[in-house]
Amino acid sequence: MTTTETDSGVLAGDERMLIDGELQLTGSGATFDVVHPATEEVAGRATDGTVEDLGRAVAAARRAFDTTEWSRDVEFRYHCLTQLHTALERNKERLRRITVTEVGCPVSMTGSHIESPIDEVAHWAEIGRNFEYLQDTGVHQSLAGPSRRLLHYDPVGVVGAITPWNVPFYLNVAETVPALMAGNTVVLKPAQLTPWAGSELGRIVAEETDIPAGVFNVVVSNANEVGAALSADPRVDMITFTGSTATGRAILAAGASTVKRTLLELGGKSAHIVLDDADLTAALPMAAMLACIMSGQSCVLPSRILLPRSRYDEGLAILQATMEGFPVGDPWDPKNMQGPQISQGQRAKVLGLIADGIASGARLVTGGGVPSDLPVGYYVQPTLLADVDPDARVAQEEIFGPVLTVTPFDTDDEAITIANNSIYGLAGQVSSADEDRALTVALRLRTGSANINGGQSFGLTSPFGGTKQSGLGRRNGLHGFQEYLEIKTLGLPV
Ligand code: ADP
Repeated sequence: MTTTETDSGVLAGDERMLIDGELQLTGSGATFDVVHPATEEVAGRATDGTVEDLGRAVAAARRAFDTTEWSRDVEFRYHCLTQLHTALERNKERLRRITVTEVGCPVSMTGSHIESPIDEVAHWAEIGRNFEYLQDTGVHQSLAGPSRRLLHYDPVGVVGAITPWNVPFYLNVAETVPALMAGNTVVLKPAQLTPWAGSELGRIVAEETDIPAGVFNVVVSNANEVGAALSADPRVDMITFTGSTATGRAILAAGASTVKRTLLELGGKSAHIVLDDADLTAALPMAAMLACIMSGQSCVLPSRILLPRSRYDEGLAILQATMEGFPVGDPWDPKNMQGPQISQGQRAKVLGLIADGIASGARLVTGGGVPSDLPVGYYVQPTLLADVDPDARVAQEEIFGPVLTVTPFDTDDEAITIANNSIYGLAGQVSSADEDRALTVALRLRTGSANINGGQSFGLTSPFGGTKQSGLGRRNGLHGFQEYLEIKTLGLPV
């Protein structure tokens, strides 16, 4: 295992990938750098896997699915995933340091990166163990007379999981563990900017669990071609993906030739509708915080705030005060709640969109640039843009930065129209003193979820996903587990 430790807490992850039970480097020995976004320094390296490496991983996953008992032996899967849960608990602090190193997220905010996914492994192990794979639906009429029908839930087969860099360890777990527990075999392709969240999961599976060779593979690579090859490979039955809508479209197109099942969790541009009777001091500080805590690098974040014209200035003042007091800086310092953007390129994209917003008529209330006291690291100031035209790029495109756009409205109907004026439909929020009124508005949002007055729709036991171009299918809940299963309908004589 290759590790590097420094006093700052920076910790490099494993350079290797996992193919057919072997932790390995790519044949040529090629590696790529992993940069710590808070210092802009190279923290270590990862092996630069190729399309050929991917092909070997897919072959191994295919063999493990077709020729071993993995897909049929629920108790063995339960044993392996319970082992994995224990192993992840053992590695928790190491995983936390690696995550802060490659993502740059504040150490104080790592609960959703580390604790949540570890808990999730135990959850899926229980769900998968208790699931009724064979269900008797009783007697049905058919043209030939009555027939008894059974449903059998089969794993889909070889699942390719392609993950992004914003919450990498969580998403690696969320995309692969329910798939494994449902009896599939998996090839994981982690994001280039955060290879270690994937390689460490591979190392732990290989060294600390009985998961058989070929059942779980991780192909680390700096090339988009590897993800593209995975999504086009005819030996792969399903792709599960979290990332941008543009890449989601490419994956859907690549999978079309073999009619792959696809589970896509894509972009979002969620709106928070603040109705005119809302308690602004309860709703808005949290809204500003949500924009900053992951440096805005979250698909569900309500990044468009819609304020009633009658309370516009009051609302803006609260958002501004929260953003101006927000603790931004070194992610290793536990008092900070916002770290840097993940890369130079992402920061440039965020700053470019802010400039575009201002050019299109938005008013810069606070932020808009790089914090003067943080010249090193890819930091962006918490940024508030007011008077934003709902059709402007800054209101239509996902920014993935600590940026809130604010647009005024006069009536509830107008607010709903503005909120739904988006290619995305992931999430939404409504705040009002009248819960029924808020619910009426929330039901008219064309989104996969909505939170009312600070309630939380997101959690392991409830479906999560997007409408419109925010995705296909649902994660979490029983719906999420069943995404990784096919239904076989059996007819028997009465
Ligand atoms: P970003 O643009 O922010 O890097 P993406 O959605 O492009 O986000 O990336 C998410 C994941 O998709 C990464 O693992 C990346 O390697 C992978 N990826 C990028 N392009 C493709 C593609 N054409 N087909 C499949 N996967 C891809």
